[in-house]
Amino acid sequence: MNLILLGPPGAGKGTQSVLLEKRFAIPQISTGDMLRAAVTAATPMGVKAKGFMDAGDLVPDEVVVGIVRERLQQSDCVSGFILDGFPRTVPQADALDESLAQLKKKLVAVVSLQVDIDALVERLTGRRACMNCGKVYHLKFDPPAADGTCTACSGKLVQRDDDHEDTIRRRMDAYHQQTAPLEDYYRRTGLLLSIDGMASIENVQQAILSGLQAS
Ligand code: ADP
Ligand code: AMP
Repeated sequence: MNLILLGPPGAGKGTQSVLLEKRFAIPQISTGDMLRAAVTAATPMGVKAKGFMDAGDLVPDEVVVGIVRERLQQSDCVSGFILDGFPRTVPQADALDESLAQLKKKLVAVVSLQVDIDALVERLTGRRACMNCGKVYHLKFDPPAADGTCTACSGKLVQRDDDHEDTIRRRMDAYHQQTAPLEDYYRRTGLLLSIDGMASIENVQQAILSGLQAS
């Protein structure tokens, strides 16, 4: 099952991808996570990406397209994958079509999470992630058992540098200008599965599973 999760920053793409990953035993491929790992490791790609990410801008297409192309060829993607945060521009979507055709793979659905702007800002400002295992929490909607500590591995929870209000605004602009056109792009292919992302984490997951079953 080859899926894309589409939606603005904070819509719940990562949260839902992790649940789908467990359910279907297929990997979540998050370009944001891959880029953050490259920044932390200070690889040449990480050094190049850092400035764009800190500013809340998209990293250039050729950088992101390259990492996804390589990732899709890995053996754990044979039974499927969940793309989280990619594609984010029309050229990225075109490049993905090309890669999938070369690999003789087909998308089964593009799950588009619909969440209003006030909820997005509240979700992003309350998001915390474990420095050790990467598990994502929310201070109000999905809190850890103990303040500041990962329930899964006891690692320290931190706020992402780009989850502050000024950068959030810039990321929303990037979404509206560069990513929102992908809704029409995938609607035209008949693959778009529009999901109300305002419900609880569990109910959004149920809606996605029902939508996938019906599609
Ligand atoms: P994205 O990957 O789309 O940027 P995340 O999955 O990281 O978004 O979710 C952003 C924040 O919102 C996280 O702190 C997460 O715990 C929280 N969250 C995700 N889905 C929901 C939901 N349905 N209701 C409330 N909070 C949610
Ligand atoms: P995310 O974790 O998906 O919120 O992404 C964090 C940041 O990584 C974004 O604000 C971009 O700077 C960068 N990024 C992630 N995915 C992409 C992508 N597909 N194209 C361009 N930039 C990306």
